[in-house]
Amino acid sequence: MKTWKSLALPQLPGLMPGIHLHETTTQRVVPLPDTEPASMYVCGITPYDATHIGHAATYVAFDLLNRAWRDQDRTVNYVQNVTDIDDPLLERATRDGQDWRELALSQTELFQADMEALNVLAPDHYIGAVEAISWIVPEVEKLIAAGIAYSVPGSNGEPDGDIYFSVEAASASEQTGGLDSPWWLGQISGLSPDEMLTFFAERGGDPERAGKRHALDPLLWRIAREGEPLWDGASLGEGRPGWHIECTIIAQRFLPKPFIVQGGGSDLIFPHHEMGAGHAYALESTPMAQHYSHTGMVGLDGEKMSKSLGNLVLVSVLRREGVEPAAIRLAILAHHYRVDWFWTQELLENAQYRLERWRKAVQLAPEGSAKPLLAELRAALSQDLDAPRALAAVDAWAATAGAAGANPVVSERDADLVSDTLEALLGIQL
Ligand code: ZN
Repeated sequence: MKTWKSLALPQLPGLMPGIHLHETTTQRVVPLPDTEPASMYVCGITPYDATHIGHAATYVAFDLLNRAWRDQDRTVNYVQNVTDIDDPLLERATRDGQDWRELALSQTELFQADMEALNVLAPDHYIGAVEAISWIVPEVEKLIAAGIAYSVPGSNGEPDGDIYFSVEAASASEQTGGLDSPWWLGQISGLSPDEMLTFFAERGGDPERAGKRHALDPLLWRIAREGEPLWDGASLGEGRPGWHIECTIIAQRFLPKPFIVQGGGSDLIFPHHEMGAGHAYALESTPMAQHYSHTGMVGLDGEKMSKSLGNLVLVSVLRREGVEPAAIRLAILAHHYRVDWFWTQELLENAQYRLERWRKAVQLAPEGSAKPLLAELRAALSQDLDAPRALAAVDAWAATAGAAGANPVVSERDADLVSDTLEALLGIQL
């Protein structure tokens, strides 16, 4: 699928030091491997509603990693999917009397326009679920042949033939190793069985479905229902794929096995990333990713921002109201990517004020001040993408640049390097 346009990155002198990133399964900040290419998969949107600030915060966070890797002069292979066929998309299209394809296309285009405006570097491969169906079918057939997937008989109005992944058949008997060992249920999330059941039911799973071998077995292939779109499933029968297998197959097709970082919002840890890792190991006997990284949730007025509550702050609406995208990006970067936070009007005003301050300061860049600032930003970002620390360093630099009476020698060269640094590392254009 076509993706959005990225601005060319300015070249900076020197290199970003080794990058450390928080790892979800161990809850520790650890060095990332320096194998080439630097590879990353960040789960994409289901295009039935435009990009809200929570989505934007996730893609901006992993954009910092993308930029940090590029600042190490690494080759980056970044893959993102778009779940352009799934239950919520069909439900929204039916509710609004719209063709599901038109809804998916229009919302994907809006998402891409939002990403471009926020100066998020485009993925190297942007792949739709529909595009991936013919790759998914033979892999599900392999899982059935291996006894790791099975067909569920029809009951309670559900037809015969939905295919599920057996978490018990896929689990390793010994649960001793870390991410580089065989998969078991809980390897990624570390959740208890009760917690898994709760999240599974809340996040699209069907623990009550009759005929499943285990309540947590996730759907691999949904056999066609009356009135729903369907695709050729060869021996599986006509239907469409489940969500976790979609990401697994796209990642395995375009990235090394294993790739370095799997990213997403913290609500994707379970079941999505847990099950995706299980599918990957069952198919290839290698882990999915070497490192799992997750962003905090963004709320509004003390509540979680969610489609069901209808309290979404949409990037496209802010843009339409005339808010500068760089200010939205700066408001996001004011929080460490791992914390949960709340969006407020005040945050946006502070970000706009900060942007103006920086713009004034760069006109007065003192000679010799740019290189130390570049070093400070690299130090902050290489330590778990610490954007708030990076912003504080720019604020301190700006205060010096604008200090009354300091009368430093203003340097155009330093002004250029500061502008390049903010653009290359933070994605902020002054
Ligand atoms: Zn995914």
